[in-house]
Amino acid sequence: MKAWSILPCEWKDVLSRLGARPFRAEQILQALYREWIGDWSQATTLPLDLRETLARECPITHAVIADESASPDGTKKLLVEFEDGNSVETVLIPARERFTQCISTQVGCAMGCRFCASGANGIVRSLTADEIVAQYMCGRKSGEITNIVVMGMGEPFANYDETMRALKLINAGKGPNLGARHITISTCGVVPGFERLASEGIQFELSVSLHAPNDRLRDVLMPVNKKWNIDTLLAACRKYTLATKRIITFEYTVINGVNDSPACARELAAAVRKVPMAKVNLIPLSPVSHRPEYKTPDESVMLMFLDVLMKNGVQTMLRRSRGLGADAACGQLRLRNMGRA
Ligand code: SAH
Repeated sequence: MKAWSILPCEWKDVLSRLGARPFRAEQILQALYREWIGDWSQATTLPLDLRETLARECPITHAVIADESASPDGTKKLLVEFEDGNSVETVLIPARERFTQCISTQVGCAMGCRFCASGANGIVRSLTADEIVAQYMCGRKSGEITNIVVMGMGEPFANYDETMRALKLINAGKGPNLGARHITISTCGVVPGFERLASEGIQFELSVSLHAPNDRLRDVLMPVNKKWNIDTLLAACRKYTLATKRIITFEYTVINGVNDSPACARELAAAVRKVPMAKVNLIPLSPVSHRPEYKTPDESVMLMFLDVLMKNGVQTMLRRSRGLGADAACGQLRLRNMGRA
């Protein structure tokens, strides 16, 4: 069992299974999450034989920062390489009093959204919980992380168990202690995940990538829609909101000439109003090299879209695309590195 897949509350049991004294749990948590050791040999409060046992039975996952790129807006993107040579990207986004880390949950992605670079080459594999935590650890070397968004590569609800274990660990009071409301999970609409998340009783934030207001368009942009169409998705969202009293934010990437008409905006407003307290984030498409036909809309189109949504009673935010100079947010750093290999 990997050290970074063990929740703080589980350490006593793990220790007793290893034949070690349970009071060592406190020292272990101190070493892992206050001293942030990267190797058991650094846990000097523990007896040598226990350090050796832990290194053998509960190794600390090694992840290295294989590449790094910075954008003029202060966004930094890291390529995090795991023990098997696979890598994912994680993006660090400073903003006033926040320092947000965008994390990945899979190497590549199976969802195949047409405008997204993460899925351009399909999926290699899912990350394990300890690898997701290792990725967070790489990020926090750049500063104290105040927020996490699960908006990197991969679909978190297609890797539910490992993602949730990692997020619970990062959220744990005796672990990194990052507040649940500071952690946002984003899904493309893998419907079974909604009920599972609601049943966790943890106040993680939830975003849903909608990107199209009707099935005709969404079927084309997001193949996941053929499995769970918009009505099914919105019904799951509604149920989630009613059960948890938590709001859902719909992400809508605006693509020039594709989903940016006033009619689309009106249709979108009608759709999201089926979900109580829903909000919309509008994001201009960030261009991706494998789809040159998809272009960023003009600012005026973004403002028109915003206006229509607001006039139709939908709380809407215009999001700037951060990190463009770092090839950030859409699987582009890994693509660039793959191109070089
Ligand atoms: N699989 C999850 C999380 C990863 S993607 C999901 O789909 O929500 C994070 C967000 O970036 C999603 O809303 C996704 O649709 C969006 N995105 C992907 N490619 C993009 C691009 N080229 N421009 C703008 N947003 C993009």
